[in-house]
Amino acid sequence: MDIQRLLDDIAATVEPLLGEGHVADYIPGLGAVAPGQFGISVAMADGPVYGAGDWQRPFSIQSISKVFSLALVLSREGDAIWRRVFREPSGTPFNSLVQLEAENGIPRNPFINAGALVVTDRLQTLTRDAAGAVTALLRTESGNPAVGVDERVAASEAANGHRNASMAHMLASYGNLENPVDEVLEHYFRQCALEMSCADLALASRFLARNGVASDGTAFLSPSQSKRVNAVMLTCGTYDAAGEFAYRVGLPGKSGVGGGIIAVVPGKCSICVWSPALGPNGNSVAGVAALDEFTTRTGWSVF
Ligand code: GLU
Repeated sequence: MDIQRLLDDIAATVEPLLGEGHVADYIPGLGAVAPGQFGISVAMADGPVYGAGDWQRPFSIQSISKVFSLALVLSREGDAIWRRVFREPSGTPFNSLVQLEAENGIPRNPFINAGALVVTDRLQTLTRDAAGAVTALLRTESGNPAVGVDERVAASEAANGHRNASMAHMLASYGNLENPVDEVLEHYFRQCALEMSCADLALASRFLARNGVASDGTAFLSPSQSKRVNAVMLTCGTYDAAGEFAYRVGLPGKSGVGGGIIAVVPGKCSICVWSPALGPNGNSVAGVAALDEFTTRTGWSVF
């Protein structure tokens, strides 16, 4: 299959959709991004990397970072984290507080904000520098030492993160944080504010297409752990539209409000798409359409 040609075709196909939807502006630092941009990159499990459009332009990875913090915690201490966070779809928005109280401070899954705060908290205990650990992993796996935090976005999140602060305090009130609220929030905001391109993220996600095997050939996750991260991405990775995403794309995926989405074809490749304008559930409109097109035309899906 001529992947390069396919990606060029997909970029042309989604062009009419570019700018459809709304750029996230609840974090002021994100609102300034031009909505009509689009990039797609595919990293083959054991081979080359392809890309089309703005595939080498860095953007704010936001919630995509949650996949990597979870993977780091699982790689270091296995299943212990599942005592503090469930792995069921939430059926509520990613920043909802209601369910957290109703369920006694145990978040529904690691990819909504409350669950990600618990994972970051645990990573902070294990490493004393959670955001630094996520950054180091992403640099190594992408092969790009320039991956770093957009300080402007991090500061903007911190200044406007009232909901995340409420969640962190609620978690602490139930005894589900090990570190001070401010410390956990700082590391969470910093991991969300990392800037990467589609090429960087396709490469960084490649271990999930390789049964957990990292770029240096070592086992970062076990095959079973890699399968489970992919499973949680499939069921909980695209906000309150995971059912629709599974229906249209048929792959494990994780989106972020910066407009990026990573997706994994186990055994074959990892993919990253980016286009900043979001649909009503917070997923990139052109990004989902591009992934839909990709799996429809290649037949590469988990179903
Ligand atoms: N930093 C964002 C927040 O906590 C991440 C949201 C997202 O990408 O889902 O609100």
